[in-house]
Amino acid sequence: MNIIDLHCDTVSRLFTVGESFYSNSGQFDIKRARQAGVLIQYFALFARPGSVDVALRTILLQIEYYQQSLQMYQEYLYPIYSYQDIMARKETDKIGCILHLEGADCISNDLELINILYRLGLRSLGLTWNQRNMLADGVAEDPQGGGLSKMGRKLLEKINEMNVMLDLAHISERGFYDVLEHYQKPVFVTHANARALCSHPRNLNDQQLKALAENGGIIGITQVEEFVSTGSATVDAMLDHIAYIADLIGVKHIALGSDFDGADNMVVANVSGYSQMKKLLQDRGFTKQEIEAILNKNALRTMQRVL
Ligand SMILES: [Zn+2]
Repeated sequence: MNIIDLHCDTVSRLFTVGESFYSNSGQFDIKRARQAGVLIQYFALFARPGSVDVALRTILLQIEYYQQSLQMYQEYLYPIYSYQDIMARKETDKIGCILHLEGADCISNDLELINILYRLGLRSLGLTWNQRNMLADGVAEDPQGGGLSKMGRKLLEKINEMNVMLDLAHISERGFYDVLEHYQKPVFVTHANARALCSHPRNLNDQQLKALAENGGIIGITQVEEFVSTGSATVDAMLDHIAYIADLIGVKHIALGSDFDGADNMVVANVSGYSQMKKLLQDRGFTKQEIEAILNKNALRTMQRVL
């Protein structure tokens, strides 16, 4: 078990469709993740933009679903609330689970809510999804548009003092730089690729990647076809993103962030594809140390700094 994946939407999917966490028809379940060697998985909570109250209810119910699932499958899963939790489980064959909020719309301007979400287990947060909220603009807004709001800056100050990881995968370009200016710890871009190879607003351009390296943060390479290539999104094309980012800013800033269950079409069809990851990287000429760095060491190092 050696793979850390920074993003999947399995919790919000299963919450909606009601299939089994252990084995289901989606892209991620416990059974396949164990076989593929998943060591740690981030699970995103997600509510579609709209009413803040509806979003909050949805997120709370998804947290309850997540916590019940951890309980029900404690034979296979354990929750991660601090870096010590990972160290204490070094010899385990259970999957460590981290709870992430994809877009803080449900927090809106009630910043105290972050304390409650923290108590309920939240350890990773993205300020926005694609749309603007009270905290910042998302990537789907006008590229010349806004960055962090004052409220967003206040929330950053709060989480700077907490062991909560910060995800910049969906924030607007200006918001991205605003955060790097106001936040002291390394950031996570949990699921995105290189814009130089695939021109999509969710992917990072070279300047952003260099800023990420300066911050000491990491980017989780995503399997979503749309973010891999505008042409044919092959496994090779996904590996091109890893090679490109490694050349630009160094292997130490690269991790994995599949986005399983977050989109229909994936380069490796589902989490089972991760069993091939090591060999694929070997065939591309990455060294043993570089492969370990991409599969888990970079993520562990960054988690240790924040968690
Ligand atoms: Zn996403």
